[in-house]
Amino acid sequence: MNAIQSLSNQSFDSVYGPVKSWRYGKSLGIDPIGMVSTCSFNCVYCQLGNIQKHTHQRQIFVPTDHILCDLQAITNWEDIDVVTLSGSGEPTLALNLAEILACVKTITQRPIIVLTNSTLLGDYKVRSALKLADIVAVKLDAISAKQLQRVNQPVATIDLPEILTGIEEFRQEYQGHLAVQTMVLSLWKPDILQDYIQFIQRLLPDEIQLNTPSRPRVLVRQLDARGNHIEASSNDAYQQLRCVSSEDLCVLAQQIYNVTKIPVRCPSRN
Ligand code: SF4
Repeated sequence: MNAIQSLSNQSFDSVYGPVKSWRYGKSLGIDPIGMVSTCSFNCVYCQLGNIQKHTHQRQIFVPTDHILCDLQAITNWEDIDVVTLSGSGEPTLALNLAEILACVKTITQRPIIVLTNSTLLGDYKVRSALKLADIVAVKLDAISAKQLQRVNQPVATIDLPEILTGIEEFRQEYQGHLAVQTMVLSLWKPDILQDYIQFIQRLLPDEIQLNTPSRPRVLVRQLDARGNHIEASSNDAYQQLRCVSSEDLCVLAQQIYNVTKIPVRCPSRN
């Protein structure tokens, strides 16, 4: 951890919420990344705004003791259905991920979820740490290199084959509940849909979650955005996002389900 990050993390609360999730109910968030938003992607729809540190290098951002201490202060466990690691960027970048998950497991009696952008799944240490989670949701927004660049804007060293291979390796090893999360920004052409379905048929996840951006995106980092998609005020720089209608999302969900028979969830279909 560098000196600036260490200093800025002193007053940082690594535990937030619970926030209401359409997928998992009332979710207590754990942020292993800290004050500086850090991710190997810079997704065009990211609710954190433009990612401040674009990297695929793993490091310890928030010491496990800091998270342990924040978790021990939680008293309203009756309001919490699940605990989710996500927060201010890509949680698998946290080198202490396994330690954090082990620590959360000892303190909470709730299912533990990790939301990952899938870019580090080629690393066996990351896959091995993730095995401690009850549910892992892997992001898969793109099935072509062009889509990946346009939607996710990865760091230069990351490519689509590496991501897909990592997801497949993880599927083979992971015994927990595997969800694929896909953000849909525009109607898919038939070849994209076919490639997506073929990959899903090989992968056989436990479920697929489709979503589309529902509000404008604030461009500048705000800590509150890690839990809720904050409303853009007139003072904020924000951007309208491309999205599809909930009807189109439902049609897509049905098309995927008809072929794969894997449950497909989307906000209007729950
Ligand atoms: S992977 Fe998640 S945290 Fe990273 S840029 Fe995309 S939406 Fe934001």
